[in-house]
Amino acid sequence: MSGLLEYTPEGWTTEALCEHIRDGKFYLLGARCYIVFSHLLRLRTGVSRIKTEGDRAVGVVLDDGTELECQNILSSAGGVETRRLCDPGYEASPESIGQLSFTEAISVLDCQPKELGNDRTIVFFNDSDQVHWQKSDAMCDVRSGVICSPNNYCYEDDEGELADGFMRVTSIANFEAWQNLSEEEYELAKLHWYDQIVDSAVRFVPDFRRAVIDTDMFTPTTIRRFTWHENGAVYGSPKKQLDGTTHLKNVFLCGTDQGFVGIIGAMMSGVSMANQYCLR
Ligand SMILES: Cc1cc2nc3c(=O)[nH]c(=O)nc-3n(C[C@H](O)[C@H](O)[C@H](O)COP(=O)(O)OP(=O)(O)OC[C@H]3O[C@@H](n4cnc5c(N)ncnc54)[C@H](O)[C@@H]3O)c2cc1C
Repeated sequence: MSGLLEYTPEGWTTEALCEHIRDGKFYLLGARCYIVFSHLLRLRTGVSRIKTEGDRAVGVVLDDGTELECQNILSSAGGVETRRLCDPGYEASPESIGQLSFTEAISVLDCQPKELGNDRTIVFFNDSDQVHWQKSDAMCDVRSGVICSPNNYCYEDDEGELADGFMRVTSIANFEAWQNLSEEEYELAKLHWYDQIVDSAVRFVPDFRRAVIDTDMFTPTTIRRFTWHENGAVYGSPKKQLDGTTHLKNVFLCGTDQGFVGIIGAMMSGVSMANQYCLR
């Protein structure tokens, strides 16, 4: 869905989007944006409820109370999350709620990583006989992780190199453990776990700690805040709904919980579900 985004008093419009959905009347519920009656993309607008009548959705209620009617809804909010927008008291089975979440410890360096011997874009590490691809018992599981340095991609000559050096280490983490902290405890936990994570990572790549000039860290609660996925589960529910259907006849899932994961997957899913259910 490419195209020049333009802001109008009614919201954002794009020629490309209008081309594709000129005759469709549906909302794309994702990235906090909505396509409304073919021509309007609303950013930073939450949906607090999906209004239903019988086995169909008839519209959405936005966080500011605005009500919008619709013929179809495509939702990337997640399977359980979408159901709860229809039925706030809905009790999901535990196995349908995603559990895997992550932290990322970000180090800004005073040099390019390769000057310290780190010339890889990505290193997957694990210090155990088996990888423990499961919810962490501790706040973070530092036995395994992914070390990424975006500086080491092959940039074009006219792009140059990134100005700052970055080393980012991703670890499996426990959402509840982070969620239950006070603000002060949370800040301290980030400091503590940054050290643990980086200590673990430098067993597998050249030690970059002497070059660190700034740090940052996101946690499962950060992921929850921006994606609204239960438990900050990056890959959503373990139960995928491959045909995208829901308990309502005109509400369809797209994105992670429909079954395509990752950024490309999410885009493919949106296109597939729109073609399948909204553009015929
Ligand atoms: C930190 C991080 C790094 C990642 N790195 C990579 C990577 O390098 N490569 C890769 O392929 N994948 C990566 N992923 C995974 C990838 O981002 C996801 O698989 C993909 O974004 C899922 O797309 P989605 O549309 O299903 O859900 P999301 O991208 O989570 O989008 C859901 C959107 O719906 C919005 N929303 C939810 N509820 C409501 C509501 N009630 N009202 C309004 N809006 C709502 C949320 O704000 C969110 O914007 C990463 C994920 C994270 C969190």
